[in-house]
Amino acid sequence: MSEAPAAVGEADLHAHSTVSDGTESPARLMQQAAAAGLWGVALTDHDSTSGWAEAAAAVPDTGVVLIPGMELSTREGFMSVHMLAYLVDPLDEGLLAETARIRESRLTRAEEIVRRIGRDYELSWEDVLAQTADGTTIGRPHIADALVARGHVATRSAAFAGILHPRAGYAQPHYAPDPLTGVRLIRAAGGVPVLAHPGTRGAEQVIPPHRLERLVDAGLFGLEVDHPENRADAKPRLRALAERFGLAVTGSSDYHGAGKPNRLGESRTVPEVVERLISEGRGSTPVVP
Ligand code: AMP
Ligand code: FE
Ligand code: FE
Ligand code: ZN
Repeated sequence: MSEAPAAVGEADLHAHSTVSDGTESPARLMQQAAAAGLWGVALTDHDSTSGWAEAAAAVPDTGVVLIPGMELSTREGFMSVHMLAYLVDPLDEGLLAETARIRESRLTRAEEIVRRIGRDYELSWEDVLAQTADGTTIGRPHIADALVARGHVATRSAAFAGILHPRAGYAQPHYAPDPLTGVRLIRAAGGVPVLAHPGTRGAEQVIPPHRLERLVDAGLFGLEVDHPENRADAKPRLRALAERFGLAVTGSSDYHGAGKPNRLGESRTVPEVVERLISEGRGSTPVVP
């Protein structure tokens, strides 16, 4: 059980760095959290905790509390489902094995996507590597950046709407465990699981109660209701589900630096929920100034 820092404030519980598909380093992210006036920020790179040390080192200078986290990739059929994992033990063997497997599959999948695109557009694997740092969790955003650098599209978003859209026929999924396995892995690693952006596909596509119940029984902590990409029509349904199952409601920006229009701190989580989340974390602790 983590000791909650003396006075808990508002936190942005979802942000990416160059360790995955964000465009700012972990240290720069902490500086921006200070500029945004945040009490705390969670670093939640895709399937990796390797940005934690750099972010933690920036805590004293920035005065911002770091809540170490990760966004674990899971999949339900063809649908990608992201599970936020806070305060996990970064050395937990189950989680390490699973994230290594996901990152390996992300790599071979990205190579295959680039091979396919390369038949129709001037694009090489080196172009994509030029958009990543050592050990980056690779994803379609890096392929998008390579397409931008080559001049095939103007922005990441344009790449996602066109060449990288599943409709275009180049993209394919990567390996990921199912969401229930994800929740169990996170709890087994001492972490606190929150279903990420569960309303981006609108009210009709919100997880049905019987499936959510299984995640709750396995230890789901909350729903990321206040997220810039959740559709307005989905939010009342999500709030009702949170109420019904006793789940916490979180708010976060899903900041990706220049990679997405989301602004750091544009959605936040209230102190009471941040405090409860911290008190449930057993795998690691927040880093306080
Ligand atoms: P992948 O991890 O390869 O499946 O790619 C999904 C990631 O791409 C998500 O985590 C988002 O951060 C990012 N993404 C999805 N849609 C867009 C978009 N329209 N513009 C920029 N980034 C996006
Ligand atoms: Fe992302
Ligand atoms: Fe996500
Ligand atoms: Zn994210």
